[in-house]
Amino acid sequence: RTVYVNGEYLPEADAKISIFDRGFLMADGVYEVTSVLGGKLIDFEGHALRLQRSLSELDMVEPLGRDELLEIHRELVRLNAIEDGMIYLQVTRGSAGDRDFVFPDPETTRPTVVLFTQDKPGMADTPVAKVGIKVISIDDIRWGRRDIKTVQLLYPSMGKMMAKAAGADDAWMVEDGQVTEGTSNNAYIVKGNKIITRELSSDILHGITRAAVLRFAREAQMEVEERSFTIDEAKQADEAFVTSASTFVMPVVEIDGAKIGTGAPGTVAPRLREIYLDESRKAAI
Ligand code: PLP
Repeated sequence: RTVYVNGEYLPEADAKISIFDRGFLMADGVYEVTSVLGGKLIDFEGHALRLQRSLSELDMVEPLGRDELLEIHRELVRLNAIEDGMIYLQVTRGSAGDRDFVFPDPETTRPTVVLFTQDKPGMADTPVAKVGIKVISIDDIRWGRRDIKTVQLLYPSMGKMMAKAAGADDAWMVEDGQVTEGTSNNAYIVKGNKIITRELSSDILHGITRAAVLRFAREAQMEVEERSFTIDEAKQADEAFVTSASTFVMPVVEIDGAKIGTGAPGTVAPRLREIYLDESRKAAI
């Protein structure tokens, strides 16, 4: 596999980063994951804009402009012959060559930029979407700036492990009695024809897939309500689902062992998945 590191395309075995990199020592970095379908990028503009925002919120220098970024994404898709899959992009603050809590001088320190691809043939047709996933609820003990897409993913990883140990697929996080989001996705419930998902704030990541799905839902005359909800309300819902760049729209059929609706995907989530995939493929670049 060919990867990108700081301006160079290299075989993955030859890619090198300093051990003093603040991404490695302090999780001082941000990332994006963009899907590739049919060799084209899904929602590239959204991911590029969110990256810009994450960097700016952390006072990090923007290492590459939108056009250069697009060029690198496309080149990696080409070099690795990705038909369906993902592109992972990470920007860390780099390092002044030592370990220090104080940020290094941005004038003399170069951010570290890494991109690599993940091949996922046929990812849009995964059989999991036909049966849905099971989630458990866990406390949300993450920091307060979840709107910044940082590489601090230890707790979400632990959440996935807790889910696995409980025989489930993922976890929904709960704070002050209300669901915030999934470990790596935004969370939704459906009541009648109404789609309910938590409003945007620093409590959750502003999902690029969330923005697109809500737009498509409204265009299809579905009702959308942006507000928080409890696990109890979710258990009583007709349907539940999650969205992310890598899973698109994925039905949730069980929460903490309680079946949602009939325990099989309903009609709203699969329909949104279809609309999302159709529209995103059309708009892919
Ligand atoms: N929420 C969290 C915590 C995430 O990590 C992610 C994606 O990785 C999302 C939501 C979904 O965001 P997007 O649709 O931009 O992939």
